[in-house]
Amino acid sequence: MVSAKPLSKRDDNSQPSSIKTEADAMFYLKKYGYDTCENEVKKLPMHFRTNNCQINIRSMLKAFQTTYQLQPTGIVDEDTLMIMNFERCCLKDNFNHSKFGKLGEKDIVTWTLNDTHIPQLGIVRARKQIRDAFYDWTKVTSIKFYEVTRDEKADIHLAFVEKMNDPLLSGPDTCYGATIPASTVEIHFDLREKWIDYDSFSGTNLRTAAVHLIGHALGFEHIFDKVSPMYTLYQINDTSSESDIEASSESNVETSSESSFEPTTTVSSSTTTLEMTKMDTFVVEKGIIQLGFLHGGVHTTPFDDSQDLNLPMMTPCLGVEVFWYPDYLFAIRFIYGDENPSIPKIYHGDPSERTPRLLSEKYLMENGERINKITWYAGTRNWQSDGKFIRFITGIQFFTTAGRVSPLYGTNKDDAHTESFDYYTLAFAKGGSIMLIDELQFAWKNQVKYIQ
Ligand SMILES: [Zn+2]
Ligand SMILES: [Zn+2]
Repeated sequence: MVSAKPLSKRDDNSQPSSIKTEADAMFYLKKYGYDTCENEVKKLPMHFRTNNCQINIRSMLKAFQTTYQLQPTGIVDEDTLMIMNFERCCLKDNFNHSKFGKLGEKDIVTWTLNDTHIPQLGIVRARKQIRDAFYDWTKVTSIKFYEVTRDEKADIHLAFVEKMNDPLLSGPDTCYGATIPASTVEIHFDLREKWIDYDSFSGTNLRTAAVHLIGHALGFEHIFDKVSPMYTLYQINDTSSESDIEASSESNVETSSESSFEPTTTVSSSTTTLEMTKMDTFVVEKGIIQLGFLHGGVHTTPFDDSQDLNLPMMTPCLGVEVFWYPDYLFAIRFIYGDENPSIPKIYHGDPSERTPRLLSEKYLMENGERINKITWYAGTRNWQSDGKFIRFITGIQFFTTAGRVSPLYGTNKDDAHTESFDYYTLAFAKGGSIMLIDELQFAWKNQVKYIQ
C-alpha cells in the first residue's frame, strides 16, 4: 500500500527566508508559473505587448490552491502559506521540459559532480547520495549512468552553488535546487541547504532531491501525485526512494514499458570505499598512468610535478618532505628519484615561513618500496584569524607496498579521501597551492604495464 507521506517544512528558526506576506506570495506564484498573464504576453509579437493584461493575484491563488488540493479561496490563507513554505524543487510547477532534449532516450548518460565543500554532509557522503540517486533511475529506465571526472565531457553536470549565483535558487521561498537545460544539463543544489543522508524533518535528504532533479534532466515533468518522485514538494521517505520510483513508475516513466529493469550499474549501498574510489576514475585513461580524484578546496594556482619538474616517465616517487602543524598541512615536496640533483626542489606551500611550532620530516621509501595508498583531508579554517574561512588540505597519510604506514601529518578530523588502485603506485602529485596546499590530486603508475 502506498500512503501519503509527511511533507517536510523548514524550521523557521533556522531559515530566515520564508513566504509570509501577500507580496511574498505574489513572488512565489510568479516564480512557480502561476502568472498566466506573463504566459499570454509572451505568445504575442513584441509590438502587440501592452500592459492591458492585469495580473490578478486572486485568480493566481485559486489556480495554485486547486493544484495543491486546497480550498480555492483566492486569499493568502494559512493552508496556502503552509504549502508555500514547504521545501520544494526550484522549477516552475508547469515548466516546459521540451528544452531538455533527449537525455532520457540515450543508452549511456555520463555525469560529474563538482568537488565543492558541502557543509555538514561533506563531499564523500554527498557523492554517495548522488550515485545512489542515479542508481535509483536504473531501476525504471534502461539507461546506464557513468560518473566521469571533471576534465571529461559529461551529459549532466552537478554542483552545489550559492543561492546568489543562480537566480532560480534565489528568493524568500525555500527551494533546494534546479535542473537547467544546456548542452551539458546543469543540476544545481543550494549549497546552504541542510543536506542529510538519512530521513528526518530537520534536513533535506540529498538522494531524494537528486532523484527528482535527475528526473528533470531525463525529461520528466512535474507530476501532481504525492507518491511520485516528480512531485514538486520535497517529501520525506517513509520507505526507500527506490521503491518510491517503482511505485509510481507506470505513470511517470514514459521511456519504460515495464515497471522495472534489472540494475545496470555496479553501484549499490553495499559498495565499499575502495570500489567507490575506483568509480571516480572509472572512465579515466586506463593506461600506464591513472589520474585520481582532485580533493581539496578552491581552485588556486595549479601545479603539476610531472610538468613543473620535467619528470622523466620512469622516475619513481621515493618519498615526501612534509611540513605541518598539528591542525593542518603547511607545505609538502614529493621526492622523485634518489634526491636526483638534476630535479629541482619545488615545495607546495612555503616552508620558509616557518615558526618554532612547525614540524617537519622526510618520509622515504626503502629498497623498491613504493607509495600505493594515500589518505588526505580537506578542512575549513579561519587561517589568518581575519574572519575569512578558507578550505585547504589539513592532513595527509601515506601507505606503502612494504605494508608501512607513515605518521599522520596534520589532522584526520576533516573531509577524508582515500585512494588506491590495484597494481598502481604513486607516480606524481598535482594540485593547487599558493600559501598553503589548497588541493591535491595524484597520478598513479601501473606497475604491471610498467614492468613489461
Ligand atoms: Zn522539479
Ligand atoms: Zn555547473
